[in-house]
Parts: sequence; C-alpha cells; structure tokens
Amino acid sequence: MPSNPNSFLMKKILSGIQPTGDIHLGNYFGAIDNWVKLQDNYLCTYGVVDYHSMTMPYDPKKLKENTWKMAFQILACGVKVENLFIQSLVPEHTELAWILGCVCSYGELSRMTQFKDKSEQLNDKGKDSVISAGLFYYPVLQAADILIYHADLVPVGKDQEQHLELSRNIAQRFNFLYNKEYFHHPDPLFTETPKILSLADPTRKMSKSLGEKHHINVFGEEAQIRKQIRSAVTDAGESSGNEMSAGVKNLFEILKACGDLNSYNSLIREYHSQQLKYSSLKEAVAEALVAKLKPFHENLQQIQENKKDIKNQIKASSEKIRERARQTVKEVREIAGL
Ligand code: ADP
Repeated sequence: MPSNPNSFLMKKILSGIQPTGDIHLGNYFGAIDNWVKLQDNYLCTYGVVDYHSMTMPYDPKKLKENTWKMAFQILACGVKVENLFIQSLVPEHTELAWILGCVCSYGELSRMTQFKDKSEQLNDKGKDSVISAGLFYYPVLQAADILIYHADLVPVGKDQEQHLELSRNIAQRFNFLYNKEYFHHPDPLFTETPKILSLADPTRKMSKSLGEKHHINVFGEEAQIRKQIRSAVTDAGESSGNEMSAGVKNLFEILKACGDLNSYNSLIREYHSQQLKYSSLKEAVAEALVAKLKPFHENLQQIQENKKDIKNQIKASSEKIRERARQTVKEVREIAGL
C-alpha cells in the first residue's frame, strides 16, 4: 500500500531520469523541481530508468555506479524515498513494452525527433554501426513506464513532449484494439522553465550528451559553477533588434527559477532601461544558484554517510512499487489474450 492513506483519491504522476551522469540544471529546473513539489498532492512514482541508458553505447560497470549515484542525487534534491524506484528492479516494464510495441506502428517511431538526433550524434562520431534497435524502440519503453502506473500526469521537460504524445496514442490504440477503456491518457506537466539552454551555446538545450562545458551540474563544485556562469555566452549573435538574446534570457530564467525575484525584477528593469551589465546578471545568477543548491549538497553528504541503509530503502521501495506494476501486467495479459 502507498504510504498516504488518501492516495487512492489522488491523481497519479510518473516520471524518470536516465542515470547517464550527474543531475544538471536542465534536469532540475525542467523536471525534478516539479517532482519534489508535486509529492504532497499526487501519488508520485519516480524512476531511475537504467534500461533507457542501454540505448546508447555504455560501460556496464559505470551504469551500475551511475544508477545509485543518480538515485542518491534525486533524494538529495528532496524526492521521498518511498516514491523512488530503479527501473531494472521492476522488469515488468519490459514485458509491457513488448505488448505495447505490438500496438505501435513503425511509422510513428520513425517520426521521433530524438531518435533522429541521437542517431545523428552517433553517425557524426562514425559509430553508425551501434545505432541500436533499442534506441529506436525506447519511446515504447517510456510509454510502458508511464502506463504501467496508470499515470495521469508526467512532469518532463519540453524535449519529451513528442514522446508523451506517442504514449497517449499508444494508450488510445490499446484501448481501441482491445475494446476496453483500460489505460489513462497521460498529459505532460511542464515547469515555468521547460527548456534550459546550454550556457556555452544557447542555441541548444542543456544536455549531458553535448559534453562537459554545456551543462552545469547541480552537485558540481561551487567554484566550477561560478566559473561556468561567468563564461556564459550572452550575445550569441542570433538576436534581432531589441529582442533579448537567447543567452541572456536563459540566465534570467535560471535566476527566476532559483526564486530570487528581487534581483530578477531589478535586473530586468536595468535591462529594459539599457543599463544592465552582464557581469552583474551573471554575479546574481551565481549567487542565487549557489544558495539554492547548498542544502542539496549537504543532503547528499548525509546520504553518502548512510549509503548502505539508503540503498536498502530504495530496493524496498522498488519492490513495493513493483507490486503495482505486476498488477497492471497481470490485467494486460488477460486483456491481450496471453
Ligand atoms: P538529458 O537530456 O540530459 O540526457 P534526460 O533525458 O535523462 O536528460 O532527462 C531527464 C529529465 O530532464 C526529462 O524530464 C527531460 O525532459 C528533462 N530535461 C533534460 N534536459 C532539459 C533541459 N535542458 N531543460 C529542461 N528540461 C530538461
């Protein structure tokens, strides 16, 4: 049973993150910040989706290490342990993914822009031979992640919008084909900052896969964070007329997301009266970020001191969450004639 006694009345939330490295500001402000805030009013289930990390070339030893690291970082940001699971401890996701794959068309999957982007990245590196069927199929696994918990809402960044639409289509098609209103139709839930851009190249979204200088780690060293903000690109040359450049807008959005509205408002005024020094904006962003992230760093320290115990708690919560997944798969097998 979920820990909250009113949970059967609550709407359900599901979201996940790949354990491909550290949590960066895009992950945090685009998704995890929302994960934490939603916990009081929804039945929330959050996964470290390690099966997804197998879709790009990876090192097995590192994957295991990164999975626990990511789980600890998520807890340090404020997610409750009873809401967290490790995807590979709930193998029912893969069975449901197979069944859902049989109601999803090849054409739909070939239109996924993230597949095109990621396979291009591999192509550019001369690694086209490792563009896996898993990379192509992974939006179906994502649909299974969502539908297995009958999620109503999925807090994600803007980059996941297309995959969410696919999950909805898969749910609709399943219900139609098997003539039963079984799956909910999940909707995305965006934060006010659904797309944080790279500070080094504000024409692209902040992402782990672009390389070190393109993302700021939430658990990075304070000096490093300050340095990255100081060297943020402010004029990318793409702004026209009086329009704020993407780099400056990105810095303002980060400042606002940190909750420092006083400096946000006064710096915005300076910007509009053409008095803003970019160095002051960067200084304010660095201060606000360092203050915002400090408690998370302290939480992580504590978690690491009790690593063994916390790992056991995550395994136990994964087992509990698995009971819900098992129930769905049991019902789906029945519906699908297995
Ligand atoms: P990455 O894109 O860095 O590999 P993931 O795919 O694991 O990260 O994404 C985890 C969550 O973070 C998803 O909900 C995704 O939409 C969100 N996210 C990732 N990058 C950004 C970004 N730059 N801005 C806003 N949200 C983001």
